[in-house]
This record gives sequence, C-alpha cells and structure tokens, in this order.
Amino acid sequence: MNQGAAPKVSFVSLGCPKALVDSERIITRLRAEGYELARKHDGADLVIVNTCGFLDSAKKESLGAIGEAMTQNGKVIVTGCMGAEPEQIEKAYPNVLSITGPQQYESVLDAVHRAVPPLHNPHLDLVPPQGIKLTPRHYAYLKISEGCNNRCTFCIIPKLRGDLVSRPANDILREAEKLVAAGVKELLVISQDTSAYGMDLKYTTSSWKDRDVRAKFIDLARELGELGAWVRLQYVYPYPHVDEVIGLMNTGKILPYLDIPFQHASPEVLKQMRRPAAQDKTLARIKAWRAECPDLALRSTFIVGFPGETDSDFQYLLDWLDEAQIDRVGCFKYEPVAGATSNALENPVSEEVKTARWNALMARQQKISAQRLKRKVGTRQQVIVDEVGPTVSKGRSKADAPQIDGSVYLSSRRPLKVGDIVSAKIERADEYDLHGSVAGI
Ligand code: SF4
Repeated sequence: MNQGAAPKVSFVSLGCPKALVDSERIITRLRAEGYELARKHDGADLVIVNTCGFLDSAKKESLGAIGEAMTQNGKVIVTGCMGAEPEQIEKAYPNVLSITGPQQYESVLDAVHRAVPPLHNPHLDLVPPQGIKLTPRHYAYLKISEGCNNRCTFCIIPKLRGDLVSRPANDILREAEKLVAAGVKELLVISQDTSAYGMDLKYTTSSWKDRDVRAKFIDLARELGELGAWVRLQYVYPYPHVDEVIGLMNTGKILPYLDIPFQHASPEVLKQMRRPAAQDKTLARIKAWRAECPDLALRSTFIVGFPGETDSDFQYLLDWLDEAQIDRVGCFKYEPVAGATSNALENPVSEEVKTARWNALMARQQKISAQRLKRKVGTRQQVIVDEVGPTVSKGRSKADAPQIDGSVYLSSRRPLKVGDIVSAKIERADEYDLHGSVAGI
C-alpha cells in the first residue's frame, strides 16, 4: 500500500440476493472508514469473499473463488453462508486470514482492521445517503428478516442462519425511505420467509412518523406502499394471512406480484419436504387471489426428482401447473446438500429421470408462460427501464422481477433513461418476453 493512499479491498459477492444485501452492508461500512474498492485482486491490499453454502455446487464455486483470491492476492477474508461451517475452507486454504458466518459484519470489519488498518477515522461523508448498492441504483433489495423457523428437509439455511429474526418495522421503513430518496424506484422485499415477518417479535409495534406500525406482513406492506416506489414481495408462503395483501395490490400500493416458492404440488412430496403451508388448499387460494386481483403475476420455483417422487407425484405436479397457471417458473433438479435431512430419505430418483422430468416440466411451463404473455399483446403496461440501447431498450413490467423473470423490449422515439417508468404498448410476445413501444412517460 502506498504511503497515504487509501487501502484497497477487492470484494467477491456470491450467492442469493440476501447475501448481496450482506455484501452491500460490509462495503458501505468499509467505504465509511475510508477503504476503497479495487477492481482486481491483483494490486488490492486485501480480498473479501462472501460465500454461498446452499448447494454443494455453490460451495464448490465459493471454494474456487477463495482459491483464486489466494493465488492472485494471498490476503483473504472469508464470510457468508459457507463460513458457518469453516472446516472445509480451513482444510483447503489454511492460510486464509479469517472465516466468519453470514451477517457477522463486525467480525469481518475487525478482521479487515487487523489485516489492513484504516487510513482515516470514520468519515460518514464518504458514503452516499443510500449506502453502497451493488444492484443498479433504480432498484434495491430490502431485507426484512434473517433466518427461518421452518425446517424444510432439503434446506440447511436454518442451520446456517438460525431461526427467524425480524427487523423492527421502523428500521426497515427508515432504510426504505432513504433508498427512495436516493433515487431507488423499485424495492424488492426479501427474507427467507417474507410472510412470517414479525412472528418472532410477536408483531410488536415501533413508532414511525406520527404512528405506531406493527411488525406484521400486511402493516409493513401497507407502509412500504406509501413511499411512492414499486414494492415487490418475494419469498412469500401461501399462509391464509397473505390474502390480506391482495387488496393492497388492487389499490396499486404494491405490485400485483407474488414470488411463492411452492417447490412441489403432490401432498406426499410436500410432506417429505416438510414445506410450510403444505396443508393449505393452494389452488383454491390462487383462484381466489386472481378473482380479486386479475393482474396478479405469480412466480414460483419447483424441485423435481426429490427422493421418493413417483411418476404419479410428478404427473400431479404437471396437472397442478396446468390448473394454477403460474406466470413464471424456475425449476431445479434435486441435489443433496451436505447436512440436509432429506439425504436420509429413501428411494432416490436417478439422474436420468430427474433430467426427463425437468425437461417435461419446462416444456409444459413454456406453453403456459407463452399463453399468459400472449394475453398481454395489445394492452398497455408500465415498464421500468433497466438498460438503454441505441434502438431498443430493455425493461420489465410489473410482472417481472429483475434477473429471474422475463423482459420487455422497447422501441422509443425519445431517449430513455435507466430507471424511467414508462407506459408501453405491447405488440408481440414470445415464450418468456414481451416486445412493444413506448406510448408515454
Ligand atoms: S422456508 Fe424452508 S427452504 Fe426456505 S429457508 Fe426456510 S427451511 Fe429453507
């Protein structure tokens, strides 16, 4: 490090949006203390790797990233989900400087201070009002709780992150308000189980502006809806109390969008997965939601090839999809994760069958998605602009979350800016995307 120059930290952020929020917090703190971000490991004073430990493939990727940082730099701090079980990392890279689990911001910062002391005293002016965002400035993830009280058999998140710990409502609202004031147009509300928000706090109130707000899913959604940004709810389970937010969607306060990771439909498989709300009549619930809010877009993920999944379980899932008409679907082939209780289940499904089921589900869903998108041709949709091109720009409708759903390709006579929300006439649809032109701003 040059005498007098700000220490430089190279940062690798792996994993899900929740891990990204952790990375943003750490970087914000580092910037506040006068550290700079380096573009490359080589030449940086230190590397931080925020790891993902959800699947074995993610662990492999994390170990690869640590190895790269060790070779190119040699001073490496590891944090994140994989850090909760440090043995594998210690074995592969005994010389890493420190290993901590998810959200242990203070320990990460202590390790950084030990390795490369800060040059200045903390100077908060170095940080823009919204903190440092790794996501584009026009949308931001808002993490409302950490951990999970469920015990799905294929998942080790509760083991890594512990039971549900919710943030007080006013703390979340303060952060959301700051983000909107700094130019964020879309807030993506995330947690492991968004609909369980506040259960651990016994829905206790906190004061926000001139009122008390309960730490409760519906109350938080209502308040977030007052901030003037798009509010998108992700990782929601179909508990009965979710019905309440559908009314808010109809009033335009929050986006008519729910990301519900159903994972399966067959009661037998759901039982083996020990999924929350598995016993609820989800098809009836979806129908009722759509009757109340016809614009509602549903996104979900499914696992095929879970141990014990029979041909008839899988057929049940396909039939259920036909009925449920989920707008957006992600599908994964079951993969055993070290430490998950599902590893002990009998009747594993062969890789060949998993692949065949994956292909069948994706083909079925492609048809559903194409049909649902076709219905939008000729309508007007509001679109948020993500990327501006010379002739065609790329954006998303209210039915599309960034990175996981489809896009709207837009032609426009007037120049557009990233973050603009425009009214678009939809002219064409394909399997996953829409195409149209700007009809108004
Ligand atoms: S709801 Fe299930 S899958 Fe999701 S984090 Fe909790 S235990 Fe894991």
